[in-house]
Amino acid sequence: MNTRKRLYVGLLVASLFFLAGLLAGGWYLLTNRNIMLNRVILLAALVAVVSLFAVIAGGILAIVVAIARSKTIPPFDGIMRLANQVLFPVAVFLGRTFGIDKERVWRSFIAVNNSLVRAQKNRVPLYKLMILVPHCLQNSECPHKITANINNCKKCGKCCIKDLIELADRYRATLKVATGGTLARKYISEVRPQGVVAIACERDLSQGIQDAGVVPVMGVLNSRPNGPCLNTEVSIDEVEKAIETILKGGT
Ligand code: SF4
Repeated sequence: MNTRKRLYVGLLVASLFFLAGLLAGGWYLLTNRNIMLNRVILLAALVAVVSLFAVIAGGILAIVVAIARSKTIPPFDGIMRLANQVLFPVAVFLGRTFGIDKERVWRSFIAVNNSLVRAQKNRVPLYKLMILVPHCLQNSECPHKITANINNCKKCGKCCIKDLIELADRYRATLKVATGGTLARKYISEVRPQGVVAIACERDLSQGIQDAGVVPVMGVLNSRPNGPCLNTEVSIDEVEKAIETILKGGT
């Protein structure tokens, strides 16, 4: 086994020992509750767990209230994000356990996210908006390399990249084409936008929204008439609506 694989396998074994240690420690504390120090540790652990649950429950409540009122309560934005971050993988797992298609769960997450961005009513200034699009929107037979520089597009109209360039010019937004999550994250850290309109499939959009952290992202799903990742399409009207929403602060 080479060094790279040894690291991960080593961490797996260490994680197992860590979990076993936690269980053994918990068991020891519970079976020796008469010792004062153990009582204090148990109480501290209980308070920490209950506090975490209370914060996450508050985050869920804040999400529901924000959707119902179409308006977020700014001091609760952080706990809404925390609830989303912590519970999103659990929600996808539970959905799969109950036989709910994960794409349906991702679509629902994106719809909730878009409602929350709309409800935040934070205006994103011109020049601070980024439109992030996937490479698969480009016609697969196009010889021009647009990932490095979007201006290499000759605007022939064989794919929607031409329309997206015109849209970005009209709104003075930065348009970037990403081949995956790594490049998308790199663009966000380089451009430092205050708002993003991202086009992608359900999985990439959900992941991208999570990765963007505090930067609001309006998600627009692409359609895949030729199957995944090949000559995909997007409604320019929907992209424009998302731009208007994020620029005007969800009026
Ligand atoms: S509009 Fe034409 S030149 Fe531009 S990316 Fe699409 S196919 Fe290529």
